[in-house]
Amino acid sequence: MIFLGTGAAELYPNPFCSCQTCTRARREGAIPRKRSSMLIDPRTLIDFGPEVPAASQMYNRPLDALERVFITHTHEDHLSIATLDILTMTSSRKGNPISLYLSHEGKAWMEGLIAANPGGYFGGLSRLVNDAYIRFVGVTPYESFRAGELEVYAIRTNHQSNGENERALNYRLGFPDGKKLLYAADTGLYSDENLRALAGSAIDTLVMEGTCGNRDIPRGAGHLNAEHFCENVGNLLACGALKKDARVYVTHINQVSSFSHSEYQAYLDAHCPIPATVAYDGMNV
Ligand SMILES: [Zn+2]
Ligand SMILES: [Zn+2]
Repeated sequence: MIFLGTGAAELYPNPFCSCQTCTRARREGAIPRKRSSMLIDPRTLIDFGPEVPAASQMYNRPLDALERVFITHTHEDHLSIATLDILTMTSSRKGNPISLYLSHEGKAWMEGLIAANPGGYFGGLSRLVNDAYIRFVGVTPYESFRAGELEVYAIRTNHQSNGENERALNYRLGFPDGKKLLYAADTGLYSDENLRALAGSAIDTLVMEGTCGNRDIPRGAGHLNAEHFCENVGNLLACGALKKDARVYVTHINQVSSFSHSEYQAYLDAHCPIPATVAYDGMNV
């Protein structure tokens, strides 16, 4: 698995920004963060933000064998249709559609875009679907389903998105060897319902957003800061959702979080109930 991106909606540093955080990131040569995405294996990707093709080139991870993308939600940093349009510029993928899994509400929103924009900017979207480059597959949260060799289970989070009543999904992927991954971006503090749904999962690898770093945010927010990240990890451990020796990674880190990479890591070392690692772009796990 490789992190193709570990940033939030804005890049880190934001090229247009001259705030202290972005200026410091440039001065200190911080590894830039592209929009969050994770390539699980050559067939399986989580989220398709605008930098996925560039990251594929940078890390020499071609996407020509891609069969499925688990889309957490339809915000542009997680599903960039304008970027997916490059699929139509190769004939080798026509008629062999990539399955884009997403919530029913997100799917309805995408279908609304197609209906409203048969041509023009989103004409690319119609072409992608009509010429079978992609197909949307609606996901019902809290119901397991198979996607190829994977056992998939999605939960509905606090994070609101574009579609009516659309909330981001977090995906638990079960692999043929019995290992489990939970990808939790975007999310927010888990409700009791979500903790009950995941209880006893014995997840081996947790990849969770820590978007807001050391900023104060309300408990009902659709994102996590570092403190809430640690609280979520503790709650997942307490209900047996997460193994005590699980590998834990922070992703989807926002530029307005004033933590640098090393400050974020130091915070986690001091506060996270089990060891957690701040991910970076290009990191293999
Ligand atoms: Zn996001
Ligand atoms: Zn979002």
